[in-house]
This record gives sequence, C-alpha cells and structure tokens, in this order.
Amino acid sequence: MSSNSGIQIPSRLPLLCTHDGVLLPGSTMRISVDTARNMQLVKSRLLKGTSLKSTIIGIVPNTRDPEHDSDELPSLHSIGTAGLAVQVVGSNWPKPHYTLLITGLCRFRVTQLLRERPFPMAEVEQLDKLEQYTEGDPAVGELGELAQRFYQAAVQLVGMLDMSVPVVAKLRRLLDSLPRETLPDVLASMIRTSNKEKLQVLDAVDLEERFKKALPLLTRQIEGLKLLQKTRKLRPDDDKRVLAIRKGGVFPGRQFSLDDEVEDEDGDDNVLLEKKVKAAAMPEAALRVCLKELRRLKKMPQSMPEYALTRNYLEMMVELPWSKSTTDCLDIRAARVLLDNDHYAMEKLKRRVLEYLAVRQLKSTLKGPILCFVGPPGVGKTSVGRSIARTLGREFHRIALGGVCDQSDIRGHRRTYVGSMPGRIINGLKTVGVNNPVFLLDEVDKLGKSLQGDPAAALLEVLDPEQNHSFTDHYLNVPFDLSQVLFIATANTTATIPPALLDRMEVLQVPGYIQEEKVEIAHRHLIPHQLEQHGLTPQQLQIPQDTTHEIISKYTREAGVRSLERKIGAICRAVAVKVAEGHKVSRAESPTEELADQNAENKVEDSGIAAPPEMPIVIDHIALKDILGPPLFEMEVSERLTLPGVAVGLAWTPMGGEIMFVEASRMEGEGQLTLTGQLGDVMKESAHLAISWLRSNAKTYFLSNGSADPLEGTDIHLHFPAGAVTKDGPSAGVTIVPCLASLLSGRLVRSDVAMTGEITLRGLVLPVGGIKDKVLAAHRANLKRVIIPKRNEKDLEEIPAHVRADLDFVFASTLDEVLNAAFDGGFPSAVSHPQVVSKL
Ligand code: ADP
Repeated sequence: MSSNSGIQIPSRLPLLCTHDGVLLPGSTMRISVDTARNMQLVKSRLLKGTSLKSTIIGIVPNTRDPEHDSDELPSLHSIGTAGLAVQVVGSNWPKPHYTLLITGLCRFRVTQLLRERPFPMAEVEQLDKLEQYTEGDPAVGELGELAQRFYQAAVQLVGMLDMSVPVVAKLRRLLDSLPRETLPDVLASMIRTSNKEKLQVLDAVDLEERFKKALPLLTRQIEGLKLLQKTRKLRPDDDKRVLAIRKGGVFPGRQFSLDDEVEDEDGDDNVLLEKKVKAAAMPEAALRVCLKELRRLKKMPQSMPEYALTRNYLEMMVELPWSKSTTDCLDIRAARVLLDNDHYAMEKLKRRVLEYLAVRQLKSTLKGPILCFVGPPGVGKTSVGRSIARTLGREFHRIALGGVCDQSDIRGHRRTYVGSMPGRIINGLKTVGVNNPVFLLDEVDKLGKSLQGDPAAALLEVLDPEQNHSFTDHYLNVPFDLSQVLFIATANTTATIPPALLDRMEVLQVPGYIQEEKVEIAHRHLIPHQLEQHGLTPQQLQIPQDTTHEIISKYTREAGVRSLERKIGAICRAVAVKVAEGHKVSRAESPTEELADQNAENKVEDSGIAAPPEMPIVIDHIALKDILGPPLFEMEVSERLTLPGVAVGLAWTPMGGEIMFVEASRMEGEGQLTLTGQLGDVMKESAHLAISWLRSNAKTYFLSNGSADPLEGTDIHLHFPAGAVTKDGPSAGVTIVPCLASLLSGRLVRSDVAMTGEITLRGLVLPVGGIKDKVLAAHRANLKRVIIPKRNEKDLEEIPAHVRADLDFVFASTLDEVLNAAFDGGFPSAVSHPQVVSKL
C-alpha cells in the first residue's frame, strides 16, 4: 500500500488521540470518535478539507478514558502514526459520534505541540521513509537475517490457516509482494496482540529492534495455533478460521489500558452470552443458529448497528423457555370446587371445561380442540380462562387480539426491519417464562385485515395442533414448539370469526345472565371483591338484595355483569369517603380521651364520642339515588304501546338479547314504503315480505277498508328506533306483521307481548337463533308473553325454569297464530286457515 507512493507527510499534523487501539503503519483500523477535540478535528479537517493532504492526520495512542477527557490535553505519547482517513461515517445514536476508517502510513515523532485547541496540532518529524521500501536490494547482515526469519515465520503462520478463506489467500499473496520492512507492522496488527505489545512495536523506531519486538509475538501466535490445532483434531468439525486473524487488523471501538494484557469486558460479555446460549437447552436447530450468530457477533465491531441487533436477538433467544415448563397439578375434584367457587351459574360451560380438563388428565398429550368461549361482554369468559390456568397450576397470559390487523403482530417482523421484534405469541412466552402456559386469545372475532397480511391466517398456524409444534416466528427464524401451550379463545360472536379459524375451535356459548343470577353473582362475588378493592368491610357497607335488583334493572342494561360491577364500585367509593371522614373525626377526638384519663367519669362519656360503635352503611333506595343519580333506564314498554302501529320484537346482538320496538305510520301517497333505522338488506326484505303478505290477505283480515288494496293511496313508513345501530337479520319479520296489522286496523298490539321469527311470503313462521338471549331480554323487560317459532320450542330447555314459569310462550308456525296471540282477543279472520306445515 505504501510502495512507491512517495508520500511525504506534512510537517504539521492535526493529532487524533485514540482511546481504543494502536494504529500501526500498513494496517487499517476503525476508530470511533466522540470526544470534543476529536470531533472538532473530524469536522474541520476531514469533512471540510478537499486536498489529499488534508485527509492525513496523526494518530496518537492515548490511554486516557474519554469519560475523563477534560479540558487539559493529556501528555501525549511522543510517537504516532500518520494515517489517511479513508472513510468518515457520522451517526447520532446513541450519542453523536463519527467512525473513521484510517489506513496507517508511517511513524512520526511529535517535535513540538503547536496548539491544543480546538484540536491539537503539532510539528512532526517523519520517521519511516515511505520511499525507502521501494529500494529493491534486500537488507544484508543481521537485519537481513532477521527479516528472513520473520518472513518465514509469517509464511508458516498463514500456512496454518484455511486457504479457502479469501482473506487468508490474499494475505499469503501479500506476504510475497510486501517489502520485508513492512512485515512487523502489518503482522503485529493482525495477530492476537495486546495494545501494550502493539505500542512497543510502534515505539520501535529502529527497524532491527522492530523485528526483534514483533518476532516473539509471531512465534507465540504460531505456538498457540499449533496447540489449538492439536485439540481441534479431537473435534474436527470446528472451524479453523475463528482463530488468529482479525480482519482489518484490529478490534476497534474498544477501551483499553496499557496494563491490560488480554481481552476486556466486551469479550467477557460475549463469553457470558455464549454460556447462556449453551445453558438455554435449545433444540439443535436453534442452538446452531445461535452459535453462528455468536460467531458473527464476536467478529463484529461494536459500533456497527448490526451488533446491537444481533445481541438483542441472541438475548431474546436465551430468554425463551425452550424447555422450561411447569408441572400440571390437575385434580378434577379440586378443579370443580375451584370453578364453582370462582363462578356462579354457567353450569353448561363449567361442565364442558371439566370434561376437557378430565381428558387432559387422562391423556396428557391431548391434541384436543381449542376451546372458544362465545358470549356478550362481562359474562366471565376471561375469568373462566384464568380459573382454568389456576386449576392446572399453569401460568396465564392474555393476548388481546382486538384490532390486530397485521400478521407480524402474531408472527413477528423479519430481522431485516428496523425495530423488528417477535410477535405476541413469542413475546408472551418470554413474559411467562415457561413453555406450557394457558394463553387466552381475547376477542378473536375482532381480528382485522389489512395490506400487511391476514393475522387470522397466522393464528391458524398457531392453533393447529398438527402444525404448531414447529411454529416459526419471523423474528426468531427457527421453529418453536407451541404444542404444550393451552390455547383458549374468546369472542362476542362467531359471525365475524374467519371460518377457517372457527373450524379449529370448539365453540362454547356463554349466554347472558338473568336478573336473579346477576343478583347472586353480585352478592357472592362482585360485592365482596369491590369491598376488598376499596378497603371496606361488610361491617361498614351493606347492599341489600332489593338494592341490587334496583341497580340491575334501573342502572344497567347488559347481558353480563361488568357495568353492575362498576356501579357497585361507585357505591363503594362514595361509602369509602364517608368512612374515611368518620375515621378522621374519631382520631381528632382521641386526645380528649387521653386528657380525660384523670377523670374516670368523663372518660366513659368521651370514649363514647371518640369511638362511636361502627354502624354499617346500608344502601337503600334513597341512598342509591343519591349516589348513582336518577335511574338511567325505565321500563317503557307499556307506555310506548299506547298507539296503534307499534309492536315489540326481540333482537340478538353480540351484547346479548334486546327488545326492539317497531313503529309504523301511514300517510297519503302512492303506496310507497319507507324504511328507516339503519337496516340491512335482509331486514328490508322482511319488511317487503310482511307488506306483501298483508296486502294479499287484507280481505281475510278485514283490513281492506272497502277497496281491494289497503295500501292504495297510502305511503307506509316503518321505523326501527335506536337508528345509530345497524340491524340486520330475518327475525324481525314476525314483528312487522302485527305492527302493520295494528296500523291498518287501528287496534293496539298487546303491551306485554314480544315476538321473534322469520316469515315467508305464504305466511309461515320459520325458526331463528339466539332464543335464550331473546327470551331473557323479554323477561328483563317484564313482558309476559313471548311468541316464538314453533320449531324453536326445543331451545327453551336452556332457559332457567323460573324464567319459563314467569312467561307465557306461544309457539307459532303461521302468521295467523302470531296475529291471534299478539292482539287482545285474537285477530279475527274471514276464513279459518287450514294448518300449513312447513317443510322448509
Ligand atoms: P368477559 O371476558 O366475558 O368480557 P370477564 O371475564 O372480564 O368478562 O368478567 C367480568 C367480571 O365479571 C369479572 O370480574 C368476573 O369475575 C365477573 N363475573 C362474570 N361472570 C361471573 C360469574 N358467573 N361468577 C362470578 N363472577 C363473574
């Protein structure tokens, strides 16, 4: 590199004090620059300068720690290396710094320091004559002999390395082409030497002395290599290359002190990491990848951005629970007790969960279906999942999938991305630290889809027992065995769960609670829990059953118990204020008690005031209104049904069942039908069906009002209130018919009847879904009669007996039966209908 360049270094050089290594002539080194003086030098000389000369700077080894780099310039080492800045890279992370790539040209001696600020500048004397190397005739005498010996040793060293590596082959060629004089410097910077040894080579200005200093280092390396190769023979698969040669000659980016003989902290860190990798009990494939990455890491300068990435990756890999697991402690009897204690009601669900657990106990390698709890919010789906983890003695982790629309959320980002990280599954495993936790995949019905791929497809791989033993996260890029993880999913509705995903799961419906169940849940679980949360005791606060009933019916309208729990929480807060105030009073008065000590008579009276007997605060009707405000919901059914043209339907929503009013009005017009209330296509069709049926049967039911068509010269407007909510589904058909019949006949629909069912053009009533939730909603609304399709009769089994007892069910198979049940005294018709039996 220096041959016949004939470079004469300038007599004045800016000096760069390095903290992290010794640059020798003929070698190249990466130097990280972050101290004020060095930064100034880079800015004003290297970044601004245009001539070649301006890129030549003096590198002076300086042992001072950059942390202690004060204003004072430390005493400089008198010999340095003039170097050519080949590359300057700036970065702001983690702090502003430059990384320079410098090639050493020749030694110089500092003769006089000219200035210290903004960076040191010195008068220098060039020591090695660059041109001298080009003079062809080899040195004679002792020097020549030394040089020859050194050359041979170097050839021997290179010969011991793997020639198939391009760097080694190149080095072999270099050995022959380089002038012998340059060899000590070049080799000293390549072989394993401490900074102190390198400094000795640098200081050896005399060529002969330099050979003498460098030769033992070279011999030591050869001996070391021989030893290593001997042990390698026993383990032939190891890599020969990892040895002596460090690419580029030096390890940049490292602190050093001249007393420091061998490796430093960074090395220790990597050794520690290597130990951890070996201790992590990974499968073969993962271990291989880790070791490869470790090898790369060791060769990488710390300042390289990839260094941090690789380290993070390795740290993630060692933290994963490859083979750490908890032992299941499943006792079915205990599990039953625990489930019963944690949850009131939900018998069907608990039974199925116990079955599932029992099978697991008998066959631990069960590749069973994934349980998916489907039901309205706040009915205890998550909480059952948590109980399952407890009964099994496993760790529990919840993964919220609502709104996730990027598949890398599940499967991670590839490591090529900036800020890449593993997906939620792998992250969850790292959090729990064992490979057999219970994972609750919350809200699988709310998975999104976007340009970044379909997360549902990624979940398929996670949930499929045939595939998930080798789940490959993009970040890890090695398979992780998920087969020990127990997955449970929850959803509000199955309608929006991707079919392929639904196919992998066993759906367990968790319906909403009826009023009585809610009261029980409140008294057994919610109230004690809230009391504890607020630091209260049952001696301080009592909520009677009547009050709970009132909270449920007037302050909440939900299928679950979440908002009920919130209301109880609100009561607890209000009472907590009162109790805290009471405490203050008694504490403020306690000194009186002490004073009264001398007076026995007074004492009795005063202590009575100081610590009044604790009275529970009972929440009655008035207190409830005081704390929660006026009732939010009033049962309004009977009030709304005071006009013809209104009927009550029953609807199913992901939040549970609800009652739904259908209103109709008519006006003069051209027989048009207007529908409002955000209806879907199916619902619109139901409305058209109902009208068509009524028109065709107008005569039969005396609705025609003289003319053949009751709608002649009339526009009809049908409205489904709560217009902000989109409604769809066929089950409103049955409600629209009595509503219109009431409008056309002027008679009122019974105010205590609700109905649901799909209709056909010929007047049949077809079954619909969600009967349990719908019936519970009717019961909540205090309705007395429920009209449901005949073929839904079997669904009533799921409904608690006392609810059934409170309601009068009408099972209809034709619209005629519906009309008769919906109006007081029936709906007279001209002909008695023959019984039509649906064959649909
Ligand atoms: P979900 O996941 O279905 O939306 P959660 O599991 O979060 O609902 O339940 C909400 C709250 O209601 C929890 O505090 C839970 O303990 C309580 N809860 C729900 N159902 C029951 C029940 N049957 N018995 C006792 N507590 C219940």
